[in-house]
Amino acid sequence: MRVAIVGAGLAGLAAASELMDAGHDVQVFEARDRVGGRVWSESLPLPDGQSVIVERGAEFILRGYDLLRSYVAELGLSLVDTGMSYYLREPRGAGEVDSAAMVAAGSRLTDAIGGDERLSISDVLSNLTVSTDLAEAIRCRVEISCALEAEFLDSSVLGHVASLSPLPSHRIAGGNQGLAQALAGRLGDRVHLNTPVRAIVAEGGTFEVLTDLDTYRADHVVLAIPLPLVSELSISPALPRWKLDALARSAYGDAAKLHIPLARSVHTSAVMSVPDRYWSWTAMDGTGRVPAVLNCFAGSATALDRLDVRDGPDAWVARVKETQPDMPLVSEGALLTTWSNDPWARGAYSARGTEVTKDDLDYLRRSIGALHFAGEYLGGDFAGLMEGALRSGREAAAEILGDRRPGRR
Ligand SMILES: Cc1cc2nc3c(=O)[nH]c(=O)nc-3n(C[C@H](O)[C@H](O)[C@H](O)COP(=O)(O)OP(=O)(O)OC[C@H]3O[C@@H](n4cnc5c(N)ncnc54)[C@H](O)[C@@H]3O)c2cc1C
Repeated sequence: MRVAIVGAGLAGLAAASELMDAGHDVQVFEARDRVGGRVWSESLPLPDGQSVIVERGAEFILRGYDLLRSYVAELGLSLVDTGMSYYLREPRGAGEVDSAAMVAAGSRLTDAIGGDERLSISDVLSNLTVSTDLAEAIRCRVEISCALEAEFLDSSVLGHVASLSPLPSHRIAGGNQGLAQALAGRLGDRVHLNTPVRAIVAEGGTFEVLTDLDTYRADHVVLAIPLPLVSELSISPALPRWKLDALARSAYGDAAKLHIPLARSVHTSAVMSVPDRYWSWTAMDGTGRVPAVLNCFAGSATALDRLDVRDGPDAWVARVKETQPDMPLVSEGALLTTWSNDPWARGAYSARGTEVTKDDLDYLRRSIGALHFAGEYLGGDFAGLMEGALRSGREAAAEILGDRRPGRR
């Protein structure tokens, strides 16, 4: 069977890997000059002449990433403990509120939601009867994590705060992109970089996959591209209305990252700026050292506007200086990464929005004949995350193989 996979992010690579292992003729088409998509590790020079691998996209490997961990083991990679916790961030700019107060309020959130799906985030926060500052810190936390403003988010996302506990957080040694590279390495010359797919035409029971140079024929196609790009790709016959409507109702956030070299190494840390909707951290690498770099993540379009990321890193660096005056920042080497202006991502990742209906996940997931869908937005409980992307890719492969055995990997 000939299978064309569009997109060499974790979803596309997982699908391709499973299908290749099952003996099928797989070709992966990737628009960029690298694999990994929103997983992008790069070396950043430090003032002391050393360098550090930073994650310009996905960073943290969290609780329940079983599939990712199994690929890591299978591919001979390893995880490093960051020595800090993604889950706990010390709030700044929210009066007297500290992380202990957020944890305590979080433990009451499930009761405040009370199974009523119609409640907005503001309704739930007012049911919590906490101070304005604490409510704002909780709102900030979900807006950053979901990369969207609270008014566009379903109240179920408050689960981000309901389950705060200081669990360890990991990365892949040498950079998370190593996972994409290792999967692509197994696929060899089946992966075609710098090859954007421009159109897909279904004809006589097979597909034509059109790139700038060639047309490939395939029996199945897996579209493993970011959610906003699915409805824009030229597909003939056009996607059905139910699919397009479900895509239009889906929410997709906006985020940016900033890496600022430090004049010297500091302890591990995790700090959240409530007014500016970003958080920053220092973390251990695989050697047990804390490299001299401050990592920052800002979530939501409003936050990015406020931090003026369109004009470069300066405004954000200035805000960090104000919030963390003790951090020995070396602003000159700051590296800013924005995702909304990336033509092959068009934002950060999906989130559970207010418009979504209960059938939407099924509509989004459902294949159309031999045209299949994969990507983080189909990751179920792990939607928006690396684990969700891998799971969706494996699911798309299972669909093609007609193999839906429970308990596979
Ligand atoms: C700033 C940021 C921070 C994040 N932090 C975390 C984190 O800490 N932990 C976590 O688990 N996740 C995190 N994520 C989310 C994670 O990166 C994604 O969920 C995951 O990598 C998505 O994988 P994917 O394969 O679905 O999509 P992608 O990685 O986007 O892959 C899709 C690929 O399709 C390609 N493509 C698009 N259109 C075409 C076309 N027409 N033809 C050919 N190729 C095409 C793209 O170039 C891309 O390579 C973060 C994301 C961002 C942006």
